[in-house]
Amino acid sequence: AEEMMINSEKLSIAGQLAAGIAHEIRNPMTAIKGFIQLMRPEYTTKKQYFDIITAEIERIETIVSELLILSKPQELNYTKTDILLLLSEITTLLKTQAILKNVEIIGEYTSTPIYIYCEKNQIKQVCINIIKNGIEAMPDGGEIRIQVKKEKDGVILSFLDEGVGISKELLEKLGEPFYTTKEKGTGLGFMVSKKIIENHGGNIKVSSELGKGTTIEVYLPSHRKK
Ligand code: ADP
Ligand code: MG
Repeated sequence: AEEMMINSEKLSIAGQLAAGIAHEIRNPMTAIKGFIQLMRPEYTTKKQYFDIITAEIERIETIVSELLILSKPQELNYTKTDILLLLSEITTLLKTQAILKNVEIIGEYTSTPIYIYCEKNQIKQVCINIIKNGIEAMPDGGEIRIQVKKEKDGVILSFLDEGVGISKELLEKLGEPFYTTKEKGTGLGFMVSKKIIENHGGNIKVSSELGKGTTIEVYLPSHRKK
């Protein structure tokens, strides 16, 4: 109950509204998608309309899911978590996807546990967002290296890619909702990640060089934010 309160306090009115809308939209959308699939006339010219509708609904689904990650107050569960173990889980999860894009994810850390106090699913989501952005930034493949540095009161996770990089102009806009350079992007992943990290009492730093790559540094405190 305590977690619930802390979280709803942190959510702005707009955030609560967004969460409410996201919930309300998701269920009817799932139903519509299901029925459209059932009606699909495989061998007529209408097929492409069905496919477009389905693709558009899927896009709304993605946006709604990304917004929902921000606010699931009832499911927030802060626990003492070994960040290295979590990173290994995430790497395993993304391996297949990475291989398909010729990307190698390299964890440059040992396995001696480093504990932080966090909402595991949210931190997992942040790491997935960052690594996926790294993969998407390297259309010809490359490496994503993950480094972990223990600090006095926390830990710094660094994600280094060899991708296209981010221009100065974009760097300033990063964190604004719906800003994307991708055809199928939502421009929500980074904003959501930033919010989650800030809710944990941490911060995200981005440094990038066009054509060289990007480094995302995530600082997370080891203990609960007061
Ligand atoms: P999306 O991935 O849906 O576009 P994000 O919020 O995750 O939305 O990212 C916003 C934008 O920031 C991306 O469209 C991309 O231009 C830029 N970006 C984020 N991470 C990277 C990265 N590692 N390398 C290059 N560009 C990035
Ligand atoms: Mg993204």
